[in-house]
Amino acid sequence: MQAMKEWYKSHPYLFHKRSNDRPGCDSYSCMSEFDDSIWMREALTQAQAAMQAGEVPVGAVLVHGGRVIAAGHNAPIAGHDPTAHAEMAVLRAAARRLGNYRLDGCTLYVTLEPCPMCSGAMLHARLPRVVYGAADPKTGAAGSVVNLFAEPLLNHQTRVEGGVLADECGALLSDFFRARRREQRARQLAAHPLRDDALRTPDSAFAGLSDYPWAPHHVSDLPLLAGLRLHYLDEGPRDATRSWLLLHGGDGWSYEYRHLLAALTMAGERVVAPDLIGFGKSDKPKRATALDPAWHRQVLLELVDRLELRHVVLVARSGGWEALALAAAGRFVGVLLLHAPAPHGPAYDAPFPDAGHRAGPRACASWGEGEGGQPAPWRRLAERCELDDPQSARHVAARAVEYFQL
Ligand SMILES: [Zn+2]
Repeated sequence: MQAMKEWYKSHPYLFHKRSNDRPGCDSYSCMSEFDDSIWMREALTQAQAAMQAGEVPVGAVLVHGGRVIAAGHNAPIAGHDPTAHAEMAVLRAAARRLGNYRLDGCTLYVTLEPCPMCSGAMLHARLPRVVYGAADPKTGAAGSVVNLFAEPLLNHQTRVEGGVLADECGALLSDFFRARRREQRARQLAAHPLRDDALRTPDSAFAGLSDYPWAPHHVSDLPLLAGLRLHYLDEGPRDATRSWLLLHGGDGWSYEYRHLLAALTMAGERVVAPDLIGFGKSDKPKRATALDPAWHRQVLLELVDRLELRHVVLVARSGGWEALALAAAGRFVGVLLLHAPAPHGPAYDAPFPDAGHRAGPRACASWGEGEGGQPAPWRRLAERCELDDPQSARHVAARAVEYFQL
């Protein structure tokens, strides 16, 4: 309450503003657009306070009789309270101040379109009018996602107007989220700093890839990586009886296995799909000489150890990788060799924004087929597969799951 008094002292011009400006006009219904933007600016000040506190910047004020009787901002993080939206704060404060849960004659100003919860609370408060700034395409309940204010069956109608100082209100939000993304990237980089002799494809290059919803996993502290960041997918239950190690070809990355990965995890299997160093979302050394098959194999073995993969079926498009299974025969139970056409499409260029990023594929072009075809102590299945075709991938997954039954 003390804070509120202070706030009123610092905003003296808000008192009796309407009656001074326009004698005889004290009803919310004759507020002008000019007034609306003045009150919205007060709500924006609240939104800025939310931002200072590390909360999503949404602010609100509640105006009654030409003066602000409550001001507040978003605070769910600080209060561990999912209902602590700016509108809820001002509705509660105003109702206490007026000694009535019905907020007759009040207008609520909020910088962002209200969500369903807050819209519901406004209807319960019999609020006559709400004015918001920016539209909220994700949870807006005043027309963007749903429109609770236009629901004729509800017994109270609150008038709603949007778009007041919308650009400023929206800019505050987008600045906030942009800064937060920048901090996240900086944290990631701090956790896996980029080596001077390597490049890292920006995340934006992979934005909007279809059928690739999986969370990224990174490791940079395997002994052989010496700080290079390796990206891998790790899906399905950790305690699955069997795991599948999907190794992409020199012309692809883990993306090529998206349909096979989905089909195998649907069958309850654990699936790990790394991007080799120099490929996909993994770091890319600037020099091709840094990358040879024996080195990749050893890195993969370190990864298999780190992830404690057991009963592994190795899946590859080239017999060259069988040497990997031979080197850790105790962990592998079989090899699934896929005869698949070379993948193509923009998704396969995404990891390489320029020629400098292509040292991995350049090195790989000189490898040949490697040491394939050795007598192996495990089961071996060869299948044709159109990896970019979900149906073909599902068919191969079903065949393989049956074939490699333990
Ligand atoms: Zn809300």
